[in-house]
Amino acid sequence: MAKPIVAIVGRPNVGKSTVFNRIAGDRLAIVEDRPGVTRDRLYANGEWLSRQFSIIDTGGIEIGDDELLRSVRAQAEMAIDEADVIVFMVDGKAGITPADAEVAELLFRAGKPVVLAVNKVDNPGRQVDAYEFYSLGFGEPVAISGTHGLGIGDLLDKVVGYFPEEQEEEYGEDVIRVTLIGRPNVGKSSLVNAILGEERVIVSPQAGTTRDAVDTPFTRNGQQYVLIDTAGMRKRGKIYENTEKYSVMRAMRSIERADVALIVIDGTEGIVEQDKHIAGYAHEAGKAAVFVVNKWDAVEKDDKTMQKFAQKIREHFQFMNYAPIAFVSAKTKQRLHKLLPLVDQAAENHAMRIATHMLNDVVADAVALNPPPTDKGRRLRINYVTQVAVKPPTIVLFVNEPELMHFSYERYLENKIREAFGFEGTPVRIFTRKKTREE
Ligand code: GDP
Ligand code: GDP
Repeated sequence: MAKPIVAIVGRPNVGKSTVFNRIAGDRLAIVEDRPGVTRDRLYANGEWLSRQFSIIDTGGIEIGDDELLRSVRAQAEMAIDEADVIVFMVDGKAGITPADAEVAELLFRAGKPVVLAVNKVDNPGRQVDAYEFYSLGFGEPVAISGTHGLGIGDLLDKVVGYFPEEQEEEYGEDVIRVTLIGRPNVGKSSLVNAILGEERVIVSPQAGTTRDAVDTPFTRNGQQYVLIDTAGMRKRGKIYENTEKYSVMRAMRSIERADVALIVIDGTEGIVEQDKHIAGYAHEAGKAAVFVVNKWDAVEKDDKTMQKFAQKIREHFQFMNYAPIAFVSAKTKQRLHKLLPLVDQAAENHAMRIATHMLNDVVADAVALNPPPTDKGRRLRINYVTQVAVKPPTIVLFVNEPELMHFSYERYLENKIREAFGFEGTPVRIFTRKKTREE
């Protein structure tokens, strides 16, 4: 089930990032606390009234000539195209400015759900000039204070109220849902065309009959796949399409619906920060992943180049060392045939379920080999281990005292579990819980 996307839109200095951080801040506890996982807050995962969502602050879109109206307009257009609900933020102290009015008009015409937030209403007793803000045409404004954390719950109540109904899964269990994510121009759409053009790939006849079809189903060697959100890979010449925020938002949109994310990197340019943000999203979303180094035809190379590049990937993406790496060329189709077998394997491991007795045996052996360290005379005892979910495989360790579990020991156990069962291509989540009487 895809998570709704919420975008915060507004001119600079109204307090977008302050409010974003406030919403994101509460969630940080559930985001995996591991070294290497990017902490850059381009987006955050939130939850309110049991609905999960992703939120992005569209601020800071740089469009080259830093002309205020143009960049604010680009942000609004991106939100209109990509978000499910838009939070339109204005400054309650400054009142409505021409830039606000411009954004309002764009949002008004687009017909997407908009929640108007008047920020910097710091004193809860103070009234906002409701009439002024009503005139923007989005109904009753929600008065908030980002710095004091006031009204944020009311804002989220309204936002969640606009979320689409949770939808039924549209593809069968045996269909592997694949998405290609990456910066602009790394070759995502070229790869889609190259994959679909491969021998033995049969593109379903109904795909492509409607020009705006979002997904492309195909079959290869009897395995059914669907490429998620191929429409989003077509360029439409929008001003924001080369921005990092857009790449991340696009990735969020398609990743939620996918089983396997192909993280496409431009082999001629190497790894940049933006690649990490995009990959980090796949990881945090718990999806299977394969690194695809594209344009390998255009890389000047000797017999060590591939190995060196792979090593760089391992250094930059330490948190994803489970993801295999493919070096391909969409242009020459070099090694492209290796890609789908990696996808198959990653998808299979992502859905793998390990019998409880086997898990317990492996963990017992690991503990015997290397017992948990003691802490002030107390030692962690693992009573029982069980896999509670797939996609991704999620394992719970029931222990005497969860606070005695250290990150490095958990890592050790994860490595032992991976050694025993494979799990290549998929993240594995491990939680430590206190053993209760019933368990
Ligand atoms: P953005 O450019 O829209 O992301 O705005 P920022 O979040 O960077 O905030 C711009 C300025 O407004 C900063 O100096 C914030 O401290 C201030 N600010 C943000 N929220 C509030 C608020 O609720 N009350 C007041 N008084 N100032 C705020
Ligand atoms: P997207 O923005 O990620 O969808 O990237 P495109 O598929 O539009 O490709 C961006 C540019 O890279 C285009 O000029 C492609 O022709 C080029 N390109 C894509 N794949 C390859 C490749 O494997 N080798 C080379 N040399 N160029 C490629």
